[in-house]
This record gives sequence, C-alpha cells and structure tokens, in this order.
Amino acid sequence: MTDGLLLRVLKAVVRAAWALEYGVRRGARRLARRPAYALAGACGGCARCCEKPTIAAGPILWRLPWSRRVFLAWQRRVNGFALVEADPTMRTFAFRCGHFDWATRRCDSYASRPFMCRDYPRALLDQPWPELFPTCGYRPLAPNAAAAREALARTGLSEAEREALERKMFLR
Ligand code: SF4
Ligand code: SF4
Repeated sequence: MTDGLLLRVLKAVVRAAWALEYGVRRGARRLARRPAYALAGACGGCARCCEKPTIAAGPILWRLPWSRRVFLAWQRRVNGFALVEADPTMRTFAFRCGHFDWATRRCDSYASRPFMCRDYPRALLDQPWPELFPTCGYRPLAPNAAAAREALARTGLSEAEREALERKMFLR
C-alpha cells in the first residue's frame, strides 16, 4: 500500500538518521584507512533486492524478546515489511515487502523507500567476501584491484584464466 503523508515524513526523518550514522561510520573507516571494497557498476533495476529484504540485527535484539517485538512491529507498520524468516545463527530477519509489486516488479512508494533500500548493496561491502545477487548491476571492487591486476598480468596466465581470476577476486 502506498505511503501516506505521515509515513512519508516519519520515514524521511528515520532515513536521515540512518544516512548520518552510516556516513559517520564510513567516514571513520576511511580516516582509519581500513581497506574496504568500493562499489562499481550501476543499478539495472532488476528488483531482486526487493524480493526478500533482509536485515542483520545486533545481539541485543536477539537477547531481548521485547526489543525484537518492537523492532518487528516497526518494520511491519512503518516500512511495510512482514517477517517471513528469522535466522538466529546469522542474526538476520527476512521480510516480504508490502510495497513490492511482483507483477510489475516496482515499488509503490519508491520516493519514501527506507534507507536500506537506497543503500543496497553498500552495506555488503563491509563483508570479507560480499555476495551480491547474480542479476545485480553493481559489483564490489577490491581496494588493491589495480596493483593485483598488474601482478596477475606478470604471472603468465592466459587472458581467459586471468579474466576469470580477476572476476573471482573482485578486481574488475
Ligand atoms: S520498500 Fe520499495 S525499494 Fe524497498 S524493498 Fe520494498 S519495494 Fe523494494
Ligand atoms: S539487485 Fe542490484 S541491480 Fe537489482 S534492483 Fe537491486 S541494486 Fe538494482
């Protein structure tokens, strides 16, 4: 169901808070010169990331049932996310989004979509081995990609072998 005015305003406020937090976190990472993947490519609009939006939650949410209830109620009421799967091992919640139209593969409230939808797949770049959807137009780029490509060029591998390795290691 399309977001009304109240939800649009509420989501804009929450989105700004998340954008600030992630901006600070990523800025600190850059200042500390901690290597991270860069994001290459562009969104091709496949909408694969809308099929089952997933949120990784901190330990507090898993330990305190009431905080989990509040979190899930918020997701349902504000973001339109209905819980379909909770994975305590990975500490993730997977949802079905009420804004996603499976027939047209469009979001009915695109302008007020949450921060995580806008940010996808940047949060995955913090992982040691980011796994994006195969249809995603984005791709991670390793921090030392250019130097590693040059080193590979000196190995005597065939062009096809080098290309395959470069893709596997997120070097291109
Ligand atoms: S809110 Fe929109 S962009 Fe986000 S998962 Fe749902 S359909 Fe996709
Ligand atoms: S999976 Fe990637 S290409 Fe597809 S809609 Fe999401 S961000 Fe865009």
